[in-house]
Amino acid sequence: MTQKRDYYDILNVDRDADDDEIKKAYRKLAIKFHPDKNPGDKEAENKFKEATEAYEVLRTPEKRQVYDRFGHAGLEGSGQDFGGFGVNLDDIFGDVFGDLLGGFGATQRTPKRGRSLQYSLDVTLEDVIYGREVRIQVPRVESCATCDGSGAKQGTRVVTCPQCHGRGQVSQTQGFFTMSRTCPNCRGEGEIIQEPCPPCAGKGFVRNMTDLKLKVEKGVYTGFKYHLRGEGEAGTNGAPPGDLFVVINVAPHNRFQRDQNDLITSAKISFAQAALGAKIKVNSINGIEELQIPPGTQYGTQLRISNKGVPHYRRSYSGDLIVTIEIETPKNLTTAEREKLAEFAKLRSESYQNENGGFWDKLLGRHEDDEAP
Ligand SMILES: [Zn+2]
Ligand SMILES: [Zn+2]
Repeated sequence: MTQKRDYYDILNVDRDADDDEIKKAYRKLAIKFHPDKNPGDKEAENKFKEATEAYEVLRTPEKRQVYDRFGHAGLEGSGQDFGGFGVNLDDIFGDVFGDLLGGFGATQRTPKRGRSLQYSLDVTLEDVIYGREVRIQVPRVESCATCDGSGAKQGTRVVTCPQCHGRGQVSQTQGFFTMSRTCPNCRGEGEIIQEPCPPCAGKGFVRNMTDLKLKVEKGVYTGFKYHLRGEGEAGTNGAPPGDLFVVINVAPHNRFQRDQNDLITSAKISFAQAALGAKIKVNSINGIEELQIPPGTQYGTQLRISNKGVPHYRRSYSGDLIVTIEIETPKNLTTAEREKLAEFAKLRSESYQNENGGFWDKLLGRHEDDEAP
């Protein structure tokens, strides 16, 4: 092999560059020269291997120390043999690109999209008729603001795990076999936190009550779902957060039943009004409406007042107010009322009970109680 280039020159960083600068420099080169991007390009492949080797040494404190003191010679024969391409590419990519590309051959620190949440929001019928802006409090896991999700206490750093050199895996040779297992020091993360961030105990995320504003629109109904993108739980390792689904639940109303966009209520009228027809007042949800009772209206008849129901979602018109008619029978009649009603019954040849408890019947032509001995 020809004269090896200086690792710092390869990555184009200063000799006192910190971990972040080294990582960034490598990332730039690796993206540029990655074999997948340059199929069949031998020179790009060599550049990529060269950069990977330089990065592998400079990111590992012990190796970097040795290299700084003794140069390439220091690393030779120390088991640091790249054998052309001894490092596991996937490991490096998993680590460097884990937070960038999302699972680009990643084995550890895999970015995971945050969980989506569902929130049930109780609203009133009035909210649905007028529309309303509500504040909702959503308990969710968020990236810790103190450490920006790193889990490291302010002023301390996340460092490459010295035991596995950031691979998250350690190898053990027993006889002919080399076994790989998850690094016990960093639990496969490849990085360790020197001092955990107190608010999140080093986890990088915290459980918060988040205040959100939501506009409940006119015409929504029970089961209607608002989809709030990105308002779910925080993702890990740079992955996007989940979504929040707010499911509307319209509480029952004490005076109105809802049937799609119609509202149903009832009104009581007297049988005289039912028979003769009348104009009555009916409570709608937002005022008083006049309702025409046609002559001969029967108990249970449903009459409509148009456009006084629930607005259609994102439309300018509403459903109807449906009034179910109930006919009230008068009680405690005065003598005058009783006489008029008796007269009415007689005119219609209807049998009725008189005030003595006896019965009048047209067919008999007399009062039943006249017969009594
Ligand atoms: Zn924190
Ligand atoms: Zn480790």
